[in-house]
Amino acid sequence: MAALADALGALGLDGVLLTSAPNIRYLTGFSGSSALVFATARGELLFVTDFRYKTQAAEEIGDLARVVVEGQSLWTGLWQHIPSLASVEVAGFESAHLVHRDFQRLLEAGARWQWRPTVDLVESLRERKDADELAHITAAAAVATRALGRTLPQVKAGLAELEVAGVLEHALRAEGSETFPFPSIVASGPRSALPHAATSSRTLQRGDFLLLDFGASVAGYCADITRTVVVGPPSDEQREVYGVVRAANEVAAGAVRPGMRGRDADAVARDYIDRRGYGDAFGHSLGHGLGLEVHEAPRLSRTAEAVLAVGTVVTIEPGIYRPGWGGVRIEDDVHLSTGAADVLTHFTRELLVVG
Ligand code: ZN
Ligand code: ZN
Repeated sequence: MAALADALGALGLDGVLLTSAPNIRYLTGFSGSSALVFATARGELLFVTDFRYKTQAAEEIGDLARVVVEGQSLWTGLWQHIPSLASVEVAGFESAHLVHRDFQRLLEAGARWQWRPTVDLVESLRERKDADELAHITAAAAVATRALGRTLPQVKAGLAELEVAGVLEHALRAEGSETFPFPSIVASGPRSALPHAATSSRTLQRGDFLLLDFGASVAGYCADITRTVVVGPPSDEQREVYGVVRAANEVAAGAVRPGMRGRDADAVARDYIDRRGYGDAFGHSLGHGLGLEVHEAPRLSRTAEAVLAVGTVVTIEPGIYRPGWGGVRIEDDVHLSTGAADVLTHFTRELLVVG
């Protein structure tokens, strides 16, 4: 709240309307889906929700904010209560998290205030994780790796990708994941060459690569991991491609440091893969920040100019994809503390044979 108040002051804003659920959760602890928050440069917080969250909001927010439970519409509650905050004239809104219909409400019912777009105001505060946040991400990473450990012994040729996803998602729940931060990717054979494959009814065959990319969440914080295994003994070509991706992952995880630009971290893995002759087959970025959202700042990509801050958690996920043949991705989550990066996803990177 203090950091947000400083940022508002620097922008000449008296307050900001927050409409992004992860940003609202970050500031207030509220984990529900229906809320508007107005935060002022003086450190006041107005929180508006509906009847469904009356008890939950009281429990999660306590006296951190003035909580209004609105019977008709959140917007009605907002317009009624902003005037009770200290002198608000110029207010920001979250440009990336307001649909046009709600923007029109600002211009109509909210016309007595001046509205200015803001970008990444709270997101930039979320980049550096404090000790509690890091503990939640670490716990989520442990849930994810334990679930993978329970799943792989059950995988065999003849199972459909969807069945494997069912085994995996059951294990994630059993290990304590609150939800699935994104739809689990279970992609086999030629489908492993689709970097964002949708899990399908294809059945696993001997000789397939099997790529599993999935998440876990604890206290709202996400982990995100990918491992690629082979169903039955691997071919020489599979070993070769796997070895390049594994080395790229390890070289990048060993090199990434706070103070580096995102694009320089990306280049470590990309240059390695390039030198081995697979540069064209690594078409996506190296990684992304991880926290209340599975994709958040910072980015590790060819165009990311921003410097990586101490305390961020990012993924390292190089891949090689050959259409019609298959693909390999190995993804770990790392915490950028002052020294070398700490890997949070402790799961072997050896090429595992399943089934
Ligand atoms: Zn992933
Ligand atoms: Zn990822």
